[in-house]
Amino acid sequence: MVSRVISSWGNVIHAPHVLYGLHSRYDRFPTATETSLLPFGNGRSYGDSCLNVGGALLQTRSLDRFISFDRETGVLACEAGVLLAEILDLVVPAGWFLPAVPGTCHVTVGGAIANDVHGKNHHRAGTFGCHVRRLELLRSNGERLVCSPSEHPEWFAATVAGLGLTGVVTWAELQLRRIASPRLDVDSIRFGHLDEFFGLSAESERTAEYTVAWIDCLGRGKHLGRGIFQRANHGADAANAPAPPKARKLSVPFPLPVSLVNGVSLRVFNTLYYHRQWSRQKHTSEHYRSFFFPLDGIRHWNRLYGPRGFYQYQCVIPTPSAREATAALLDTIAGSGQGSFLAVLKQFGAVSSPGMLSFPRAGVTLALDFPNKGARLERLFEALDRIVGGAGGALYPAKDGRMPGELFRGGYPRWQEFSEYIDPACSSSFWRRVTEHV
Ligand SMILES: Cc1cc2nc3c(=O)[nH]c(=O)nc-3n(C[C@H](O)[C@H](O)[C@H](O)COP(=O)(O)OP(=O)(O)OC[C@H]3O[C@@H](n4cnc5c(N)ncnc54)[C@H](O)[C@@H]3O)c2cc1C
Repeated sequence: MVSRVISSWGNVIHAPHVLYGLHSRYDRFPTATETSLLPFGNGRSYGDSCLNVGGALLQTRSLDRFISFDRETGVLACEAGVLLAEILDLVVPAGWFLPAVPGTCHVTVGGAIANDVHGKNHHRAGTFGCHVRRLELLRSNGERLVCSPSEHPEWFAATVAGLGLTGVVTWAELQLRRIASPRLDVDSIRFGHLDEFFGLSAESERTAEYTVAWIDCLGRGKHLGRGIFQRANHGADAANAPAPPKARKLSVPFPLPVSLVNGVSLRVFNTLYYHRQWSRQKHTSEHYRSFFFPLDGIRHWNRLYGPRGFYQYQCVIPTPSAREATAALLDTIAGSGQGSFLAVLKQFGAVSSPGMLSFPRAGVTLALDFPNKGARLERLFEALDRIVGGAGGALYPAKDGRMPGELFRGGYPRWQEFSEYIDPACSSSFWRRVTEHV
């Protein structure tokens, strides 16, 4: 047992934690702890959902063994600390792919399950949890529950998107999907206004497995919500497979003394990026790593935001109010002059998510990074919260470090039912924050 300062991806919270570890799926749940515990994957959550300030973390990265991989059926079993990157390295050469991947592959299987993560193909494939065939949940009383949509289904529904609070996932069995090539065939289409985004999205969902848009968060008036829309499919044959991107050479070696993301750099970047292609529409072939995980090419890119770190604000707005509320959010953000290069808009589909607390639901999701500017940023967030709450939307716990408890509870109506499944030994900073003063 050791104690160390741990921070999450946004680098806003740095706090000492007592650390325990699991080294094999056969290990026991640590018992001699005086404080609550929270399983910890690879710390890629942005705020406090992977932290337990004042308590302990149970590190799971050493649960890093593959258990089985059937190359005929694409069923893969592995321990929960295996990274999605490690799975892809193994399965892509055999013609398989993960059915849902987030924007970084440096995420553990346990972390992907506990946040029921989503990718650019949500409209087709739903969330990561939709492809988990079985998992083992280790509880603090020593009980081991094998859960699936048909075995202990209530524990499965609580553990997928369960924020690490139901116990620790030790291993999982996943159903992969076939691919013919590591290549993605990508169309990038410049669009001038939010209204065009909705048209492009509706049209592209019929033909493209992956859809997503980068948004110029400073655009207003006739430029409101302008951006670059991408739609892509896996290459249909093994020809012309692009080389994988070079191993990560770029790195931000230490937190910069000030944030490089400011009003001037943002305006310059967004204008150049919006005009980066001469023609309105461009077709490219890309390796899956550069298409799905562009930011993974720069080690520690989160340090660009300086010593105060940054927040991500990711919301989902249900379909009926999606257009109006998204326009209001973008106009409010542009008016504040805050925001960053990373602003993403995506239409979620109607595939239902398996977790009681899953974030994705039919509608539109907007995700933006913001340099931490203290009270000024919090005032903007409060204005955004009013729009999201008023539209019946929700914020994503994996990205959050500050949402008011009321907004969480309104966006996740099953939270009380879920709380019956929390392991008595487990807790997190996030959970205490959003449920304590009820
Ligand atoms: C650049 C970037 C892009 C991203 N893009 C997306 C995206 O497109 N879509 C998306 O959905 N998310 C996205 N994310 C968020 C990320 O996918 C999630 O936060 C993910 O859960 C992080 O996994 P982790 O292994 O780092 O877990 P951690 O962040 O360490 O923990 C996440 C949660 O999982 C729990 N947990 C971890 N391991 C276990 C276990 N073995 N058993 C039980 N609980 C466990 C923890 O308690 C915690 O609640 C992105 C993050 C980054 C940094």
